Amino acid sequence: MVFNTNITIALKNYLNKYNVKTVSLFELEYVCKGFDYLRVKIKKKEIIFEIQCPLCDQKHFYKYIISDLMKKDMLIGGCEVLNVPLFLVGKEDKIMEKVNKYEHINSEINKMICTLR
Ligand SMILES: [Zn+2]
Repeated sequence: MVFNTNITIALKNYLNKYNVKTVSLFELEYVCKGFDYLRVKIKKKEIIFEIQCPLCDQKHFYKYIISDLMKKDMLIGGCEVLNVPLFLVGKEDKIMEKVNKYEHINSEINKMICTLR
């Protein structure tokens, strides 16, 4: 069995759209190069995401056990202040499915808003 260590992160930007990146678990600490408001720390068996929230401008922390993270299809972290999803982490296909659905709904809403104007 090949152990897939790739992990996909989708993080909302201040435009309320998702930026998506797939990296190997071992490169995760460097992923913040692509996301300037995300810091990732790996401590023993835990992984800590530190996000300077682009939606509410506060810092949020999320802590996961690495083995849990690799087992799950997808974990969703939310902005605690606005109570909306902020980032997704997990398997690429699941994340892409969710992001595409979200982008589609968002564009439909925008279309509706435009026709209402
Ligand atoms: Zn927030």
